[in-house]
Amino acid sequence: MVQRFDLAVVGGGPAGSAAAWQARQAGASVVVVDKAEFPRDKPCGDGLTARAVSYLQRMGLAEQVSQFHRVNRVKVFSPSEWELSFPRRPGMPDHGYVARRPELDTLLLKHAEAAGAEIRQSAEAAGPLLDDTGRVTGVLLKGGEKVLADAVIAADGAYSPIKRALKLDSDYNGYSAIAIRAEMPAVRPDVDSLDIYLKLLFQGDQLPGYGWVFPLGDGRINIGLGYVNSYKNWQAINATHFLGEFLETLPREWELPSITELKQSKTVRAWRLPMGFTAWPPWRPGVLFTGDSLGAGRPTSGAGISKALESGLAAGECAVAALANGGPDDFTNYAQRMEAAWGQEYRRGRFFHKLAGNPTVAKTGLKLLDNARFRNMLLTRLYKGQEGPAHRF
Ligand SMILES: Cc1cc2nc3c(=O)[nH]c(=O)nc-3n(C[C@H](O)[C@H](O)[C@H](O)COP(=O)(O)OP(=O)(O)OC[C@H]3O[C@@H](n4cnc5c(N)ncnc54)[C@H](O)[C@@H]3O)c2cc1C
Repeated sequence: MVQRFDLAVVGGGPAGSAAAWQARQAGASVVVVDKAEFPRDKPCGDGLTARAVSYLQRMGLAEQVSQFHRVNRVKVFSPSEWELSFPRRPGMPDHGYVARRPELDTLLLKHAEAAGAEIRQSAEAAGPLLDDTGRVTGVLLKGGEKVLADAVIAADGAYSPIKRALKLDSDYNGYSAIAIRAEMPAVRPDVDSLDIYLKLLFQGDQLPGYGWVFPLGDGRINIGLGYVNSYKNWQAINATHFLGEFLETLPREWELPSITELKQSKTVRAWRLPMGFTAWPPWRPGVLFTGDSLGAGRPTSGAGISKALESGLAAGECAVAALANGGPDDFTNYAQRMEAAWGQEYRRGRFFHKLAGNPTVAKTGLKLLDNARFRNMLLTRLYKGQEGPAHRF
């Protein structure tokens, strides 16, 4: 059987659903194929930044999103404790949420379906279909079925099989973080803050990363940690063991389960988080990359859901515009959009990513940040012109 669409989206995570939803607003025929059956899990801290909330609101999901556990601030331990509010920007939410990924991603995929996209679950892409010129013309599913499309949006996550099959090279390849998380009950109130722990030591080295404790509501929390791969010994770190050590530094009165108990309950999962545009330019003839497959994660914080949503919406819009005005050989409009949105920030972020991998630099940076006078000066400079003690998380 061969089906034909304007757009085939591979991957029904936040990036893919946002792209499909956006393309449907312009009337394109869209299919989303995902290898999983939803609701499906995705290792994540489950934290939705204010920016992520704003994209969900733009997609018409304001009410549904407000059902998740709301957070109003970020509490940082460096190791001294200080707080940041979400930035107050005109027309933007000043709060975030913590949302379990099976629930969030199912909500988004159903939203794309309600907008008219055809959703095919348990449909694994084996690779892209190519014409004689090397242009992507569709997707081959495992089992042999072909899905033809004028353009393919690769929203297939951190390990992007589409990207790997095309053997894409990029100057920014290799920038990534390793992150691990577990969900568990805790004897503590359901707070309204995202808690970030900056002091992460491995064999005496301060790591370029952080630990987190995010409240899910109903007495449950998501605890995890992540570190970027510019630290020379990152491969020597046993992430599960390291998470266990982190859990032991948290208050005893929370009565957290041990790492052994968590492993038995299968909630402990690690995953890669590409960042800083690992596929650049973000398109090739017939195909656009979005979300983790683009390496859209923010290099300084690892926030990926808002970036998946933003790049997904942009990919959906730019793909349809390019197809209507020139065809599938040139998606420069998408590269321009991504460059304008994050180009400068991600250039700085990649520099910072490399720098922070040096434990001496990381230790000095943390010491400075722990100093209230220096911190206030830095934040005032960074967020000049924005209201409140703002910080873009
Ligand atoms: C441990 C951890 C914690 C994190 N915490 C946060 C956080 O708190 N806040 C935040 O903003 N970001 C966080 N991130 C980043 C965030 O999870 C990702 O950036 C985000 O999920 C990217 O969305 P996506 O749609 O690009 O990819 P994904 O959500 O990974 O979706 C990709 C989809 O593609 C499908 N797929 C893959 N291969 C195929 C195939 N061959 N055929 C068909 N379908 C396929 C998968 O089934 C999946 O549904 C975290 C990441 C990690 C690893």
